[in-house]
Amino acid sequence: MSFAARRVIVAGAGPVGLMTALGLAREGVPVLLIEQEPALTVDLRAGSYHPPTLEAMAPYGITDRMHERGIPVRYWSIRDRHNPEWVALWDLDLIADLTPYPYRLHLEQHQLTPIMLDILAREPLADVQFGARFTGVVQDANGVRVTYERDGETTVVDGAFLVGADGGRSAVRKAIEMPFEGYTWPERFFVMSTSFDYESRGYTKNAYIADPDEWVTLFQMPGEGVSPYWRLVIPTDTDTPEDVIAAPERVQAWLQGFEPRDEAYQILYSSFYRVHQRVAQSFRRGRVLLAGDAAHLNNPLGAFGLNSGIQDAANVIPKLAAVWRGTAGDALLDVYDRQRRTATIEFVQANSIRNKRTLEERDPAVRKERFEELVRTANTPELARAYLINSSMIAAARRAAEVA
Ligand SMILES: Cc1cc2nc3c(=O)[nH]c(=O)nc-3n(C[C@H](O)[C@H](O)[C@H](O)COP(=O)(O)OP(=O)(O)OC[C@H]3O[C@@H](n4cnc5c(N)ncnc54)[C@H](O)[C@@H]3O)c2cc1C
Repeated sequence: MSFAARRVIVAGAGPVGLMTALGLAREGVPVLLIEQEPALTVDLRAGSYHPPTLEAMAPYGITDRMHERGIPVRYWSIRDRHNPEWVALWDLDLIADLTPYPYRLHLEQHQLTPIMLDILAREPLADVQFGARFTGVVQDANGVRVTYERDGETTVVDGAFLVGADGGRSAVRKAIEMPFEGYTWPERFFVMSTSFDYESRGYTKNAYIADPDEWVTLFQMPGEGVSPYWRLVIPTDTDTPEDVIAAPERVQAWLQGFEPRDEAYQILYSSFYRVHQRVAQSFRRGRVLLAGDAAHLNNPLGAFGLNSGIQDAANVIPKLAAVWRGTAGDALLDVYDRQRRTATIEFVQANSIRNKRTLEERDPAVRKERFEELVRTANTPELARAYLINSSMIAAARRAAEVA
C-alpha cells in the first residue's frame, strides 16, 4: 500500500479545523477540509478569547476582523452570590506589557468561523468540502487513505497526513482507536441568554458567581444586531426533564429570582450541554493527528476549550508543514503531542477543574478562605499579575514552549 498524495486532509470545519487548514495552506501545503454538515454550524458555544489565542490568529488577519464586532473585556470578576463583599475584580491592563491584546475578546464562535472560512476560501491551495462526513482512515509509511460519505456515496481520497479536528465525538479519534481518558460531570449545564444589561446591576462583562447550590456565569456577547446581549450558564440536575427546565415561565422565574426587576425578561435562547474532562492518550497515531475537542474536552469555566484548540492548531501548523516539506523528521510531530498534551493536562484540565470547585465549594470555611485569598490576590498588583498570566493562558503557552 502506498498513499503518496501530497495534500493534508483535515476533518471538521469547526474553528480548529478551519484554522489548521488555513495555516497549512499559507505554509504552501495543499489541504482538503471535509465537513459533515452542509454549512458551518451555528450554536451558542465558545465566545471568550484569551490573549495568546488572539495572537495566534492575528497573522492570518482573523483577529483584526474579530475586533470589528467583538467586545474587548478588560475587567472580569469572581464573586459570591450570597456575600456581596466577596468580589475579586481582575484588570487585564496589568499584563498590557505582555500582549497586544490585554483583554478577553467576546465574540460568538459562530461569528468567528465565517471569518475564518472567508479567509480560507481565498487560499488557492485549500479545497473545502461541505456535506462530506469522514468515515474511515488507513495509513502506511507514506500516507493516509481517507473515506468520506456524501449523500450515501463513499469517496476515497489519499493524503500525506490526516488531522482530526472533528469535535468531541471525533470519528477520527475512534477510527485510530485512541483512548479518550477522563470523566463526565454528573450535572448538565443550562445556557440561556437575555437582552437585559447586567452591567446596570454592577456585574462585569465577564463574571463568575460562586454558589454551592447553583453557581452562575455571565458573559456579555456582541450578537449580530445593534445591541449586545448576555449569556448565562448554570448547572442543572439530570433528573428534571429538559423541557421542564427550559419552559419559558420557569426560565423567566429563574431570571427574576437571580436579579429581580419590574419588567419581564426577554429570553433569547436556551440549551443544555454535558460537560467532560477528557484527554486523548496521544494526539498522534502515525500520520494521523488530533486537535481541538477531538483531542481534549474540559468544562467551560475559564473559557479554555476553544482557546486551547486554536493553540493546538497554531502549534501543529509549522511542525506539520516542516515534516511535509521534508525539512524536519516526523519526530517533530511527537513534540506537538508532548507540548500540547502537557499544556492541556497541567493547565487546561487542572485550572478548569479548580475553577469549577471554587464556584461550587460547599464548606463555608473553605469558601471564606478561598474568597479572602482571591480578593487579596486581586488587590495586590504583583499577585494579580501572576494570577492573570495563568488565567489568560500565557503560562500555558510558556509551559508548552518549554517542552522538548
Ligand atoms: C455551551 C458551550 C460553551 C462553551 N464556551 C466556551 C468558551 O467560552 N471558551 C472556550 O474556549 N470554549 C468554550 N466551549 C468549547 C468550544 O465550543 C469547543 O472547544 C470548540 O467548539 C472546539 O472547536 P473544534 O473545532 O475542536 O470542534 P467543533 O467546534 O465541535 O467542530 C468540529 C466540526 O467537525 C464536524 N464533524 C464532526 N464529525 C465529523 C465527521 N465525521 N466528518 C466531518 N466533519 C465532522 C462538526 O460538524 C463540526 O463542524 C464551549 C462549549 C460549549 C458546548
